[in-house]
Amino acid sequence: MIFTPEKYAIPDEPMKPFIDADEIWGFLNKAKPTQERVREVIAKSLAKNRLTLEETAVLINADDPQLIEEIKNGARELKKKVYGNRIVLFAPLYIGNHCINNCKYCGFKASNKFAVRRTLTDDEIIKETEALEENGQKRLILVYGEHPRYNPDYIAHTVKLVYGVKKGNGEIRRVNINAAPLDIEGFRTVKKAGIGTYQVFQETYHPEAYKLFHPSGPKKDFNYRLTSLDRAQEAGVDDVGIGALFGLYDWRFEVMGLVRHTNHFEAVYDVGPHTISFPRIKDASELNINPQYEVSDEDFVRIIAILRLAVPYTGMILTARESHAVRTEVIHYGVSQIDGGTKLEIGAYSNSLNENQNLNKEQFKINDPRSLSEVIDELLENGFLPSFCTACYRKGRTGEHFMEFSVPGFIKRYCTPNAILTLAEYLEDYAKPEVVAKGWKVIEENKKELAGFVRLEELENRIERIKNGERDLYF
Ligand code: SAM
Ligand code: SF4
Repeated sequence: MIFTPEKYAIPDEPMKPFIDADEIWGFLNKAKPTQERVREVIAKSLAKNRLTLEETAVLINADDPQLIEEIKNGARELKKKVYGNRIVLFAPLYIGNHCINNCKYCGFKASNKFAVRRTLTDDEIIKETEALEENGQKRLILVYGEHPRYNPDYIAHTVKLVYGVKKGNGEIRRVNINAAPLDIEGFRTVKKAGIGTYQVFQETYHPEAYKLFHPSGPKKDFNYRLTSLDRAQEAGVDDVGIGALFGLYDWRFEVMGLVRHTNHFEAVYDVGPHTISFPRIKDASELNINPQYEVSDEDFVRIIAILRLAVPYTGMILTARESHAVRTEVIHYGVSQIDGGTKLEIGAYSNSLNENQNLNKEQFKINDPRSLSEVIDELLENGFLPSFCTACYRKGRTGEHFMEFSVPGFIKRYCTPNAILTLAEYLEDYAKPEVVAKGWKVIEENKKELAGFVRLEELENRIERIKNGERDLYF
């Protein structure tokens, strides 16, 4: 693995802002996407090298349909070759939607008089978690508005509460967070509670566009948000998720921003972000957005394929904001994690009466309302291996995506066997009869590829132990 050194106008240092809009536009204005150059860049990525900003700009500027196809094929091949067919599943759990910011795209904004404000009580958090466990979920991301009541101690309290809920064979083994940026002390507090990834999306990497969409509240400070995950690193939270909300500014600039953010972490902390998210703006209560930068489905696929090639060892998250059809198509170009059975209305997992979406009670509209069971069924049909694995994080193997990508045999030694064991648990405890048969078939197919990497008899022995009632077995 080679990291190509790059010199930027602003040298990278911890806690120092690193985005220079002119520099990013400079790369975009200069990069020439000749056929030869585009192919060279794709080949570099397929040879397991992270791309530079200049090379990323070459892929971004490639507008020729034939070259776009080659970029998509490159991403498809990289995903298949390097990561195999696992897809990790999770669900979001909205804890509360009080908010003191006024992000123009969000239904929770303070100025939205129609928003129905609510914070789950401890009892409700327990009930929601039980309902999620009864569906088979093992990995959650807790989501909060920005409000003094959602302070680090409260976030830590809710994380511990969720970890403590055990319903039948159910338990949540990894709790991630999407919440406002904290100070270093705050990050230390939530780290102690045992969080997995801490996600903060920059929304837009363009400082002027950022100002426009964040007129008031603490979130209006672009640089405080930009450096938030540096503070996380300083506090020992080295597992962080970045993201851009596509539709606020030119998608080309945002892809460069995400790659620049990744490079910053590598330069300063020697580790990239754990995940990248690339949500597109969806309808929301009192949405107030000029559609000038709306991202088409065609460009959305390009974004995913280019990111996959540019940062090949970072997890990529695709959520139920996107429709079933879009998700089914774009998953091939590099996605590693999706949510299933998602409900955004606060308290909706344990209250099955609320089947219809009500925008005043949600942050935005979701477009893939399928249950976890339906999502898993389709993944199995399409030859994917659904996984609820949490092994690396619990074994202290940090930088797992990097290892998957760069350590030969890592996926066959750890990821596939662990995906199989967690799928076996799901099939035993939660799957509908029609899903059970498909699931065991996919397990058998994936087992065949593991000879020489794991002791197959040990894997089979563990599957037997799961059938006999043991849980949480992993490599
Ligand atoms: N309040 C915290 C914050 O702003 O960082 C927590 C995150 S917010 C609840 C989760 C993310 O949802 C935001 O960072 C934003 O990218 C995204 N989001 C907000 N409004 C959206 C919309 N209308 N469509 C799609 N995503 C949206
Ligand atoms: Fe509040 Fe986050 Fe929504 Fe902004 S995106 S209004 S900070 S919940």
